[in-house]
Amino acid sequence: MSVMQSTASIAKRGLVMVITGNGKGKTTSSFGQALRALGQGYKVCVIQFMKGRKYGEVIAAEKFLPDLQIYQFGLDSFVMRNNPAPVDVEMAQQGLAKAKEIIAGGDYNMVILDEINVALDFKLIPEEEVLEMVKNKPAELDILLSGRYASDKLREIADLVSEVTEVKHHYNAGIKDRAGIEY
Ligand code: ATP
Ligand code: MG
Repeated sequence: MSVMQSTASIAKRGLVMVITGNGKGKTTSSFGQALRALGQGYKVCVIQFMKGRKYGEVIAAEKFLPDLQIYQFGLDSFVMRNNPAPVDVEMAQQGLAKAKEIIAGGDYNMVILDEINVALDFKLIPEEEVLEMVKNKPAELDILLSGRYASDKLREIADLVSEVTEVKHHYNAGIKDRAGIEY
């Protein structure tokens, strides 16, 4: 293979990206990535784990972004790390089944699995299945996995890992959830 050919094939290889860490900015960064990709003509699918609220990004996508499809698999309530409700486990597993279907289906250029790292850390879904799904993705598909607590194995197979670190958060000054900032 010539240098030109190998450069082209590397350029077309889809990436596995991980955005993790304990600071604010993972989900919003994922949607920023989606927006950039949409502008370049990508079709993007976001699957959100452990979330059911009508976030601003969901409302904006419905209003303005026909090439962005969002699926939510979760309730609008906290999942207990050590004692998740059966419905939380069931919904996360449905999310994983949907992710597998979407990834294998080939209808999208970028798939974002928001909070999947948390679903893995809480053991709502099996890590081996997620790793296999990512390793077996279509060659050109870009995948972004976001959420705190990204596992070591996922970090190993990723092309990009970014950690958002908390330096300060307005919660600590008593400023609560705000429309447009938190949701
Ligand atoms: P965002 O959705 O704003 O990009 P995120 O995806 O990085 O945040 P998550 O870990 O998914 O953050 O947490 C979701 C919610 O918790 C957000 O509303 C966010 O403001 C809040 N949050 C995130 N980081 C912190 C923090 N370090 N301290 C307190 N609250 C936080
Ligand atoms: Mg998030």
